[in-house]
Amino acid sequence: MYTPADNRYETMQYRRCGRSGLRLPAISLGLWHNFGGVDRLENSRAMLRRAFDLGITHFDLANNYGPPAGSAEETFGQIMAQDLRPWRDEMIISSKAGYYMWPGPYGEWGSRKYLISSLDQSLRRMKLDYVDIFYHHRPDPDTPLEETMGALDQIVRSGKALYAGISNYRPEETRRAAKILRDLGTPCLIHQPSYSMFNRWVEDGLIDTLNDEGIGGIVFSPLAQGLLTDKYLGGIPEGSRASKAHGFLRPEHVTDEKLAKVEKLNALAQGRGQTLAQLALVWVLRHTAVTSALIGASRPEQIDDAVGTVANLALSADELAQIERILAG
Ligand code: NDP
Repeated sequence: MYTPADNRYETMQYRRCGRSGLRLPAISLGLWHNFGGVDRLENSRAMLRRAFDLGITHFDLANNYGPPAGSAEETFGQIMAQDLRPWRDEMIISSKAGYYMWPGPYGEWGSRKYLISSLDQSLRRMKLDYVDIFYHHRPDPDTPLEETMGALDQIVRSGKALYAGISNYRPEETRRAAKILRDLGTPCLIHQPSYSMFNRWVEDGLIDTLNDEGIGGIVFSPLAQGLLTDKYLGGIPEGSRASKAHGFLRPEHVTDEKLAKVEKLNALAQGRGQTLAQLALVWVLRHTAVTSALIGASRPEQIDDAVGTVANLALSADELAQIERILAG
């Protein structure tokens, strides 16, 4: 029997998501890696428990997380049923559809047919009546945006999701999507883009768009899949994401040029009394438009490390300038 920690709301910071009434934890947990059918269920379970004990109320999934695709939602459903069901009202659970999920013309992209069928499958796998947030996972160049956003609106009205979100949309697509959703009466709650010290595309217009539209940002891969930690400084360790055949971080992404920067960033973090992972999270959270940093983890201690970030979220102008110099190489 799992009983969550009594003090679970004492340290986490909760930040308002855009101009909505919903507050999200500064650190959220994603189930992209390490929660699939190929992973150890007991480890997945230990991570979900640890996260909830530390005030992480938001868990991010998608139809295709695994491997195999769908298995992360099944794992989550199993752990919900065993451990977390009594605390469902304290949790914000998201899923998404957009990437390839099943064969034929209705198994990916952005049609109403695909989004609604996919969410029904996700709810069955997770054994849930509804998700809190449902996202369109990536823009579809061929489906009219009115159809995709209309499907999100219909999903929210049907009660299968409480809020609508978009992911990987560029600034101009985001403005158009936000207008369609606003006109339909289902405001766009949240945008999920990638963002880290090594991947700064959102600074070119998306952050401003989110501020203008009152949409919250939840940024994925803020640790650049583990590169922005000290783990690769001595080579690629056994069991790390870059060492796994199904990991999305490939050994060729771990370059000497990146590691030279990581070394310097690590020294800067240590000077602040933080780990590099913590500095990398403070750095993305410095924008008010970034409501939450969406991390991944392969063991409970990594979640402790991430949550420790909220003890010092301040970043001085001098430290920011030092980071810029390091990143500029
Ligand atoms: P991160 O950048 O946080 O990378 C997480 C990985 O970094 C961990 O699995 C672990 O890898 C390593 N790590 C984490 N903490 C530490 C630490 N303290 N010390 C050393 N290593 C650490 O995020 P992800 O790339 O995992 O993405 C997070 C979430 O974002 C996903 O789960 C998913 O929910 C979402 N996402 C959304 C996408 C979208 O298109 N909308 C696309 C991709 C992700 P290791 O196994 O090596 O230990």
